[in-house]
Amino acid sequence: LIIPSWLEFTQMIDTIFESCRESKEGELLCFYCDLQYLFCREVASYIPQLARQSPHTWGMSICTIDGQRFSLGDSKKNFCLQSVSKAFNYAIVASEIGSHVLHQYVGHEPSGRLFNEICLDSNNMPHNPLINAGAIVVTSMIKPTHSMADRFDFMLKQYRKLAGGGHVGFDNATFLSERDTADRNYALSYYMKEYRCFPDESQVYEKGLREELDLYFQLCSLETNCDTAAVMAATLANGGICPLTTEKCLGSRPCRDILSLMYSCGMYDYSGKFAFQVGLPAKSGVSGIMIVVIPNVMGIALYSPPLDKTGNSCRGVAFCRQLIDQFNFHNYDSL
Ligand code: GLN
Repeated sequence: LIIPSWLEFTQMIDTIFESCRESKEGELLCFYCDLQYLFCREVASYIPQLARQSPHTWGMSICTIDGQRFSLGDSKKNFCLQSVSKAFNYAIVASEIGSHVLHQYVGHEPSGRLFNEICLDSNNMPHNPLINAGAIVVTSMIKPTHSMADRFDFMLKQYRKLAGGGHVGFDNATFLSERDTADRNYALSYYMKEYRCFPDESQVYEKGLREELDLYFQLCSLETNCDTAAVMAATLANGGICPLTTEKCLGSRPCRDILSLMYSCGMYDYSGKFAFQVGLPAKSGVSGIMIVVIPNVMGIALYSPPLDKTGNSCRGVAFCRQLIDQFNFHNYDSL
């Protein structure tokens, strides 16, 4: 067993989880219940579907690479993957076409800028695949010659493989809202089209951006829960083999590559400090989801909608910092 004393381990996780739920020294008043509640920061509100999420929701799930599972709180509550889809899209596309081909169009560097900023690197490429610019270019490489229906189906099938049979659905209301508030992503994409950032075979040049961006929003709107997201993270921890089904879902190399990128660019403009403090590859999304990967050990999914000023889940980050206080999971803890 990868975690020999499972009971002891899960008891410690329970304590950490509960201490992140509420803070004794909380200074802020909760927007909803007027109680002191340190973590009630702002829930993302740019679309109503996200604004309606309860700030009190707090779920966590763990799946080890040998299939041991443990969940707490709202671990079955559904939410959208949002930017966490960027990590899986990369791993799926890189497994299809090879990381070296993908990286002819997208860089490897943290941008040091906001995730949705209209900027390219000195080669006129998106800085990395985990910001909107890079993720939109990666999306354009998903089966570019196929119909939109087939492209979406292909991705859904891949996500379901990674999830080992867990719930992966589609939230159409979120998709429609994302598309209605897409000016920034359109501006960004037109800018990239001008610089010919998309591969020649992408449909962008002939058919325009509408369908390409639809696919990007559809993948942001994939719906899952902590229980299932933990399995998907565990598949990354396990080199691309789903621990529940033992099916090989991703190439080992793309799996290594996405973990490197998550380590340096996965947590928006907190990525450097997160790598410093927590020392684990992770990816967050505006819905309040976070996945954390402990390579060769386990995947963790955390879900709590209130976000800090860098756009990461407040409780999710607090959980990771305490996890590292209690266990030697930091990449350099062995020194
Ligand atoms: N749908 C969002 C966008 O593209 C993704 C945001 C996120 O999770 N950071 O703007």
